[in-house]
Amino acid sequence: MKEIKTVFQRSLPRTEGVISFRFDDPGGIAFRPGQFFELFLPGDGGELAHYFSFSNSPTEKGYFEFTKRMSSSAYSRALLELRPGDGVRMKLPLGRFIFEGREPKAAFLSGGIGITPIRSICRYLTDTGSDSKISLLYSSRTDRDIVFREDFEEMAGRNPNLSLFYTLTDCSRPEGWEGLMGQIDAAMVRKTIPDYSERIFFVCGPPGMVKAMVAILEEELGLPSEKVKRENFAGY
Ligand SMILES: Cc1cc2nc3c(=O)[nH]c(=O)nc-3n(C[C@H](O)[C@H](O)[C@H](O)COP(=O)(O)OP(=O)(O)OC[C@H]3O[C@@H](n4cnc5c(N)ncnc54)[C@H](O)[C@@H]3O)c2cc1C
Repeated sequence: MKEIKTVFQRSLPRTEGVISFRFDDPGGIAFRPGQFFELFLPGDGGELAHYFSFSNSPTEKGYFEFTKRMSSSAYSRALLELRPGDGVRMKLPLGRFIFEGREPKAAFLSGGIGITPIRSICRYLTDTGSDSKISLLYSSRTDRDIVFREDFEEMAGRNPNLSLFYTLTDCSRPEGWEGLMGQIDAAMVRKTIPDYSERIFFVCGPPGMVKAMVAILEEELGLPSEKVKRENFAGY
């Protein structure tokens, strides 16, 4: 883990209330897909710090990116005040929620903003031509809230080993929607990932969601805990 000073490049709106922020990669730092960093911003009463998963992959060079669900917090306000060239401090890389394709089969369960490290992992596996078979089951409130949807579809077009399943939880079925509806449960995992017992699972999201997903995988589907990797977005 290193502490660095770097500069803000630009922001990219993703879905409503979700924005990506990019910073210069000053070089000399290797992060792995699925890891996170700590970002310090100047605030009125002193420095503000939060953890963020990288939403870019190590194969996407020249910048570090994270993607945040915006709120009315002082931290969110400080992010929106950043201008290109502004300096920030980071500690990185952190975390063990890493997948680089060493297992032949994996699956990702995610909800909302918890998609960020999984986007990094799927992009890495696609860009490196990994032959790991990977399935993503991603839960969003509505079809407009699917973060990185175009990006995942572009990956699936190039990566025959990537299967995508979206489910919507807080709306009635949108016109033309061919995806799933309702919360992720054991029946949905069985249906979309029938070979679930052969896979290593990665679960990421707010702590309540992670707890519920782990219970489905371990208690209802009988997976051993070492086959269920988890990342809690503490703070939601
Ligand atoms: C490993 C990791 C990766 C994360 N990756 C992302 C990401 O990719 N995108 C994203 O949007 N968010 C991510 N988060 C959550 C992020 O760090 C913020 O907590 C979140 O964005 C809420 O911040 P806020 O400024 O909107 O609200 P705040 O007002 O700062 O926080 C809301 C509430 O949560 C509490 N809180 C804040 N941070 C923490 C913490 N670390 N532990 C416990 N309580 C806390 C605050 O005290 C407050 O009560 C991640 C968290 C962790 C631990």
